[in-house]
Amino acid sequence: MQLAGDPPADLDQPISQSVKGLGRSLPTLRRLGIDTARQALLNLPFRYDDFSEMRSLAELVDGEKQSARVRVSSIRTEPGFGRRPQRVIAQIEDASGSAEAIWFGRQFVERRIGAGDEIVVSGKVKITGWRAQFSGPEFSPAGRDSLHTARVVPVYRLTGGVTQRRAREIMARVLAGALPLVVDPLRPGERAGLLPLADALQIAHFPTEPAAVADALDRLAFDELLALQLSLVRSRVAREQFRAPALVVDADVVSELVGRLPFRLTDDQAQAISEVVADLSQPMPMRRLLQGDVGSGKTAVAAVALAAAVRAGWQGAFMAPTDLLARQHFASLEPLLRQMGVDAALITASVPARERRGVEAAARGGESAVLIGTHALLSESVEFARLGLAVIDEQHRFGVAQRAALQAKGHGGEPHQLALTATPIPRTLALAFYSDMSISTLRQLPPGRQPTRTEIRDRSAMPKIESFLRSEVNAGRQVFVVVPLIAESASLEAASAEAEVERLTTALPGLRIGLLHGQIAPDIRDRAMARFAARELDIVVATTVVEVGIDIPNASVMLIEDAERFGLAQLHQLRGRVGRGEHRSYCILLSDAGDPLARRRLDTIAESSDGFAIAEADLSMRGAGNLLGTRQAGLPPLRVASLFEPRHLALAERARDLATVLVREDPTLADRPDLRRELDALAVAEEPGSGR
Ligand code: ADP
Ligand code: MG
Repeated sequence: MQLAGDPPADLDQPISQSVKGLGRSLPTLRRLGIDTARQALLNLPFRYDDFSEMRSLAELVDGEKQSARVRVSSIRTEPGFGRRPQRVIAQIEDASGSAEAIWFGRQFVERRIGAGDEIVVSGKVKITGWRAQFSGPEFSPAGRDSLHTARVVPVYRLTGGVTQRRAREIMARVLAGALPLVVDPLRPGERAGLLPLADALQIAHFPTEPAAVADALDRLAFDELLALQLSLVRSRVAREQFRAPALVVDADVVSELVGRLPFRLTDDQAQAISEVVADLSQPMPMRRLLQGDVGSGKTAVAAVALAAAVRAGWQGAFMAPTDLLARQHFASLEPLLRQMGVDAALITASVPARERRGVEAAARGGESAVLIGTHALLSESVEFARLGLAVIDEQHRFGVAQRAALQAKGHGGEPHQLALTATPIPRTLALAFYSDMSISTLRQLPPGRQPTRTEIRDRSAMPKIESFLRSEVNAGRQVFVVVPLIAESASLEAASAEAEVERLTTALPGLRIGLLHGQIAPDIRDRAMARFAARELDIVVATTVVEVGIDIPNASVMLIEDAERFGLAQLHQLRGRVGRGEHRSYCILLSDAGDPLARRRLDTIAESSDGFAIAEADLSMRGAGNLLGTRQAGLPPLRVASLFEPRHLALAERARDLATVLVREDPTLADRPDLRRELDALAVAEEPGSGR
């Protein structure tokens, strides 16, 4: 009972205090990881069973979920033996006829139902011959409302020992106690057509009809996206208060630097450079993302930016996610920088300690202009006299803390930051999820690049493909073979890579074949890749661990097996491993998939070499989750909102607009405590490595 003067119960207290009478349910809630009423309300079903269709037994339809009101004419238990589980079989009847219900395993159904009982059964029906059978149906006494039958029924994620029935009963009790405590933190104008929060929660758990669920989830998704957008807007606004050194470089100096490059810039490169140079001259830290396909010339843009920073009297850093990538970047950046009169040094774990100490001393003393390396750059012994610009390659592979550690290497303000990515991000996604950054895009490739010839083949063509691989190797080229993506199991994927090495070794005797997969230690993987780069291997069989950004100009063939299993953006990335040198290059998409959508997706790849067009097509065919690989690398982990759902992308933009207004009016949400608490609870925790 609530006494006058007691603080009102709230959703973020321990649930035992906010919702009375849970009693025996409390330990179960704890087992489900739920401590507060808010957590319980947000413990949404992962799907629903629609049992709302009531039928007589004579009308039951094969293969559908449906309900029937019946009388139990008999019930018996068959004991299990060996691998066969116990079965409970009930004969059921109504005025129209009879059927059977069967339950497997020890569910103690027989204790709750007896012959003569009037019950409602709900479940999937199988009709074999003339007999209809409910398999493992839900049931409840007839004539009473039930959470489990004759309605749309929520299905929850469970942990050990908790049954769906129990979870539903507890959730119904929690909703009854907690919904009255829900205050909608959004004002009606801000909600603009979305459901009130309490209604959305009620419907999301116990919808009266399946069609109502989408609206309920939209509202919950909006709140989650608002929490995300608020953190993006806040970080953008906070940055306006941060100071960075203004690295002012004359247009003359920029053209002089550009003039020393061994090629003429593409228009996109020139545009990106002028955007970067303009940002660098501001006393506020730049956060710019430079996106462009593999081979679009991001390195040259980064090189000019670094050289400009150095000409302005500051130092630069370039951080890459792996040792091998850092060395490759060093190999391509260092000559460009040298042309522009800037010296660079490499710093990774594999650089010998003595050499490293020398490099560190030069950086500390300010003599060394640019350091290129891995996260070794973040170690305490690395200090810069005047770090002005940090370039981060494939930043989503670094955690927030690592990026912050690089930022912290600046003196007298934060360094400017330029992030590079080879994953094209469609405009809608960029607007929604990268609103804290500015974006420069390299859409054109440098002239003279031959597009990789892409063909779709089925497995019957394997002998022909193998003799083609041999002829390419005989001509001095090298080959990538990528094995099928097996999302459920990295070890199965590794096994399939090993099997493919064996198969190819038999089919192509005499060729030197290497193996790369995620279950091989990173340093050994790195070494195999280095051997491939040194032409000590002819073929590398790999899972998708083939690094983005690895440069093997001599590789001319990319063979991708069961290509239909990959996302389009991923296929395009893989294809980008070849066609980097002067040789004619080929991408073979092996697929036996017959279904037209799979075929259409592969055709998209075969017909286009434009990463942005492919990313847009992938977005419209499969949704954003697959754009950046199955683990959504580079996108925030979301619970309710789905990037597969175009409606939610639109909601993300609305959420961004509202977040902008909220931050402008009341940056800490001091006047909106309900909203602040909800959004804090919803804020997406970024894990290291999942950061953007
Ligand atoms: P990315 O890092 O975007 O994958 P790179 O910067 O490594 O691409 O460039 C790929 C190749 O194209 C390099 O060999 C580079 O020297 C060359 N390149 C870059 N820009 C140009 C240009 N404007 N004209 C001709 N070649 C270029
Ligand atoms: Mg590159």
